[in-house]
Amino acid sequence: MATFSKDSTPNPPQGDDASSASGQLLNFAGHTCWPDIYEELQLYILSIMSLVSAVSIGCTSRTNYNLVQAHLWWRVQSCLRAFNLPEKSTLSTMKRIGAIISGSAALAVIEPGMFIPQDIDIYVPFGRLEDFVSFIKSLGDFRETVKDDNEPSYQYSGRQTGIHTVKYFTHKADGAIVNVVETRSSSTPTAVFMFHSTIVMNYVTWSTIVCAYPRMTTQHKALINSDANPPTSKTLYCLIKYMARGFDFLGHANEWDKQHDCRSNGSCGRTIRGITDKATLRTAFSGGFMEEQDVVDNSLIWILASAAPCKDDDAVPHTLGFVGTNHFAAVVSDRAQTA
Ligand SMILES: [Zn+2]
Repeated sequence: MATFSKDSTPNPPQGDDASSASGQLLNFAGHTCWPDIYEELQLYILSIMSLVSAVSIGCTSRTNYNLVQAHLWWRVQSCLRAFNLPEKSTLSTMKRIGAIISGSAALAVIEPGMFIPQDIDIYVPFGRLEDFVSFIKSLGDFRETVKDDNEPSYQYSGRQTGIHTVKYFTHKADGAIVNVVETRSSSTPTAVFMFHSTIVMNYVTWSTIVCAYPRMTTQHKALINSDANPPTSKTLYCLIKYMARGFDFLGHANEWDKQHDCRSNGSCGRTIRGITDKATLRTAFSGGFMEEQDVVDNSLIWILASAAPCKDDDAVPHTLGFVGTNHFAAVVSDRAQTA
């Protein structure tokens, strides 16, 4: 088994060519010659694949499963190291307090090669902000910074969110930015399902990568989580940011698949979803010391907010979204604070 470090696997190419190359190489990887490819090339191929494609390779044999598990650990390790976060102590702190990585850094783990994340968002449960802040301060390499309130920060403001407080940290040497985000719930992932669209409904726990809409995400498409038509200006700002990164947004799943079973297909915005359902991609990553699959809260369910009927025969013009757990419930609406 190969060992993984920043230097042991080639950097994936950036830009639009990476995704098409990934699709071509998936076909290549499914060919019978895959076992004959030397491991360094296998790892390079995996490094430019979407999470969905990589996991598909891992399902083909025990050998490939082990290779993909190790590769996914490399992805998470590389993500943390890019922001100067030591992997073992960061992940153990995340495990202790129920924190997750989400936002653009998590998306880059799931869809490598589309863009380089400018910061990393660590989401923590309500009441545990200072626990993670103490950990960051203990590293000694970060200084707390103040963000310009006029800058429309994507998931954080302008709409009803699951966010309570954000603290910003910048690495003293290279300027890497770590945002510590306190959610409004003791169940950290609830905030993820109040984000602007499904493209960012992903997160990484201390042991597991979670992608709530894998079929759309791997096609670089996403549903907008908004009941307002048009969405608020701040939501539009977020969508434009991800459009510039190569993702397309849909008002409803009918634009994606006219044949889908409305209200039951996992990619339909009208379907009640759960974090442990079949449509959610959950995959543990392995570094030799962790294999447990932990999504933080197995009771999490949600339905997206939508601004238009999904099917032509759908009489409901728009719907509020909902996020709930055994001990938390919130309505999701983009109308609460009109920008
Ligand atoms: Zn539908």
